[in-house]
Amino acid sequence: MAAAHFVFVPLMAQGHLIPAVDTALLLATHGAFCTVVATPATAARVRPTVDSARRSGLPVRLAEFPLDHAGAGLPEGVDNMDNVPSEFMARYFAAVARLREPVERHLLLRADEGGAPPPTCVVADFCHPWASELAAGLAVPRLTFFSMCAFCLLCQHNVERFGAYYGVADDNAPVVVPGLARRVEVTRAQAPGFFRDIPGWEKFADDLERARAESDGVVINTVLEMEPEYVAGYAEARGMKLWTVGPVALYHRSTATLAARGNTAAIGADECLRWLDGKEPGSVVYVSFGSIVHPEEKQAVELGLGLEASGHPFIWVVRSPDRHGEAALAFLRELEARVAPAGRGLLIWGWAPQALILSHRAAGAFVTHCGWNSTLEAATAGLPVVAWPHFTDQFLNAKMAVEVLGIGVGVGVEEPLVYQRVRKEIVVGRGTVEAAVRSAMDGGEEGEARRRRARALAAKARAAAREGGSSHANLLDLVERFRPR
Ligand code: UDP
Repeated sequence: MAAAHFVFVPLMAQGHLIPAVDTALLLATHGAFCTVVATPATAARVRPTVDSARRSGLPVRLAEFPLDHAGAGLPEGVDNMDNVPSEFMARYFAAVARLREPVERHLLLRADEGGAPPPTCVVADFCHPWASELAAGLAVPRLTFFSMCAFCLLCQHNVERFGAYYGVADDNAPVVVPGLARRVEVTRAQAPGFFRDIPGWEKFADDLERARAESDGVVINTVLEMEPEYVAGYAEARGMKLWTVGPVALYHRSTATLAARGNTAAIGADECLRWLDGKEPGSVVYVSFGSIVHPEEKQAVELGLGLEASGHPFIWVVRSPDRHGEAALAFLRELEARVAPAGRGLLIWGWAPQALILSHRAAGAFVTHCGWNSTLEAATAGLPVVAWPHFTDQFLNAKMAVEVLGIGVGVGVEEPLVYQRVRKEIVVGRGTVEAAVRSAMDGGEEGEARRRRARALAAKARAAAREGGSSHANLLDLVERFRPR
């Protein structure tokens, strides 16, 4: 019987690309052929993972298409979401949308390259409205892929559908999310689509909503049993079939694939494991703000001093060291010189093998910006989080971790940093960092209850991914449903 062929069109951003590739790999393990559309810059990041899957016999391939920088008026070198200045955001999305034609031509004319059957379904990131036209051109359905939780999707949907912000002039004034059994408050500035500074954003947001509403179904990297009422609520609100497939990070099982997930790590797997092996179970605080958020100078100092004062060993991922000013770099080097020799702290200067670290028994808590992938990865590892949102869906994910799942300690940040520009200087002081870390790691009865809930979530997540589990069954259903008839 001919196999389904899913064409994945991820957004060129780590938090979207990584779970999309993992989903493709999981579908491939169930016999579907998968093509992952990428630009050269993003392909370079995920090629080791895809190549190793191919070598082990999985029917998956990368299809690479360059961005038309000149045609879109985009500066050379701007090639993925972690390096797009906000003033070029609209042009970046325009350049990405121009991929439709070459991708469609490639899939129609050279469909069988690498043994591929004809495409049967497009699974495109919600940030790619043009993928609906791609699917129409290929005469196949288009599913929308979200690396967001259903709680966040439903909150966003309901505040918009019921006009909750109507008449509220202050972007930082909380409104109650309508239509939920639980009382959840959110401000306009905390909502995922709040990009005031980006020219042309409102029109783009309208296009995104149209594409979401018209798509043929939804695929989410979440776990049904973690948020059953929100999964059901979102499917009902959208009136479409929804497949939960998470936690997709569980595709990775060996040290080699865990360590290569998403990019080449700035530390070798052996060195990282040696450091972790020397620590007590549950003793290490892992600190990372994902692939886009970057703590500014004062914040880096307060964070470092707070971590040190907590007395717990920590791993701190210092993203893009070159973006730190001299003073912050000097501080970080001094901190490293103080903590590294005694094994009290490990600074990773660049990309960290996060999946490997979180899966190690020494991991004890995760200080996170609450990107959904990181939040879900923490829950899957059974870890409590220190929830420190910065922008987009991170505020709702933080509420999910703290208020819904009960595994998080907040640091009290309520206002966003607008995308890559500091609208208002928000610095979380060292005392708050220390207290939040202590609360997540120790915290008496409350801390123990949080850890218990985190362990229970990990069990649910693992059960969902196993044969007979909800996510496993949904993957099988996708493979079956999108076979050529
Ligand atoms: N990640 C990683 N190493 C890093 C930073 C991030 O492996 O140094 C991975 C992380 O495991 C997650 C993804 O990159 O899967 C980040 O996604 P998330 O939604 O947490 O945050 P974003 O980067 O989109 O803000």
